[in-house]
Amino acid sequence: MTIWHDAFKKPHDACTFNQFYVFNSVMCGCFYCHEIYSAKAVVTFVRTKEGMPKTAVCPRCKVDCVLPDASGYPVEKSFIQIQGGYWFQNINKNIVGQDYWLTQLKKAGYL
Ligand SMILES: [Zn+2]
Repeated sequence: MTIWHDAFKKPHDACTFNQFYVFNSVMCGCFYCHEIYSAKAVVTFVRTKEGMPKTAVCPRCKVDCVLPDASGYPVEKSFIQIQGGYWFQNINKNIVGQDYWLTQLKKAGYL
């Protein structure tokens, strides 16, 4: 079982049940397609769990991996790319280990 590091798990959590964060954000970014756009561009939300706020869907790639800036995480290209790399290249395709992505976060000044 993979233990997801908090440096990745916490921002990823902000991509779920994030409807109200999106409403209070100026910008959003997508961990899947790495696009950054106005929070107003996010118009589709899906309910993934009963009793919880809805989850934003990316207007570009339609994946529910939208990071709203009101979450407190930086909606910046480098941060989005590292997080996306971790979740979609490392975990799914096992290209490089977690340490690689932690190093990238440190190099970019996020850790
Ligand atoms: Zn996207």
